[in-house]
Amino acid sequence: MSRPARALINTAALKHNLDIVRQLAPQSRVMAVVKANGYGHGLTLTAHALSDADELGVASIDEALQLRDAGITLPITALEGFFNADEIPLFVQHQITTVIHSRWQVDAIENESAPGAIDAWLKVDTGMNRLGIKKADVSVILERLQKCSLIANVGLLTHLARADEPDVDATAKQVAHLKEIPNKNNIPISIANSAGIVAWPNSHHDLVRPGIMLYGGSPVKNKSAADIGLLSVMTVQSELIAINQQNKGDAIGYGGEWICPEDMLVGVVAFGYGDGYPRHAPSGTPVIISGARVPLIGKVSMDMITVDLRNIDAAVGDVVELWGDHLAIDEVAKCAGTISYELMCQITDRVQRIASVE
Ligand SMILES: *Cc1c(COP(=O)(O)O)cnc(C)c1O
Repeated sequence: MSRPARALINTAALKHNLDIVRQLAPQSRVMAVVKANGYGHGLTLTAHALSDADELGVASIDEALQLRDAGITLPITALEGFFNADEIPLFVQHQITTVIHSRWQVDAIENESAPGAIDAWLKVDTGMNRLGIKKADVSVILERLQKCSLIANVGLLTHLARADEPDVDATAKQVAHLKEIPNKNNIPISIANSAGIVAWPNSHHDLVRPGIMLYGGSPVKNKSAADIGLLSVMTVQSELIAINQQNKGDAIGYGGEWICPEDMLVGVVAFGYGDGYPRHAPSGTPVIISGARVPLIGKVSMDMITVDLRNIDAAVGDVVELWGDHLAIDEVAKCAGTISYELMCQITDRVQRIASVE
């Protein structure tokens, strides 16, 4: 038996969450975003499970080629486009759709002589102020792309900065901003990430781009994943590898900050920040043992955490859930001062990913 740290990946839950996207955005095509190793769930594993999506979204040509190598034939978009002109022939050869976010990319694609053509999304900066072409420059660049022999079809894409906040008008402004572009008629528009899908129906348009909600994380501040009907996909588990009797006054682990208030049993779980557990999770962050919530105590170590066993009967070998079916990842993320996205992506390679069989 090897080290018990593992991530169970529920592919039926992935499919269920895709169905929720379809219900919320019934008029839109769906690009399932599987970048960053499928948000930590495994790139080809998630892509295969999401084969009912209309398209897939990744960050780079490298991720796209891994999918093509795995036999995935769905349309794939590289959401940051090409990082330098040398990559363009690969986009054409493997029919990967590119995002175009900067003028240098337009110049590069006009100068490329590879035979064939690819589709492109012109990324418009409507208020995120990160990547994209400003509104005033869009019309001219759009015309250049429409004339370019290497580009077959071009659409307009933008990304929402604050769609998770239902009471903020930034999202409505971003959506309106895109609509003001003069020659946008008859070309596809894509705006919504998960938060847009859940909270801003006006943002749906031709293509929605869900990421986090497919994996069972809530994309909005005012609703839990369960409120939206989303199921947890990744259940992260390990086991109790020791149970130790400690005495009143004993300091637990690095820094010695957590002091036993009485004689008590302390459990040691084989899962730490070397597995992707957030090191900033404070004492009190829950884990699940035998269906009960048990608080973390002391500092998170690389390979272990320690837990307070005063309120349960536990045995060495008991399964410990760090998050998943019985403990929402959003709750753990909140305790650790981060977001579910980061927890998912951080699960390291030494954690065995085990896909559920269907
Ligand atoms: C990552 C990404 C998404 C998915 O965002 P979620 O918040 O996870 O739904 C959508 N669009 C673009 C351009 C992205 O980079």
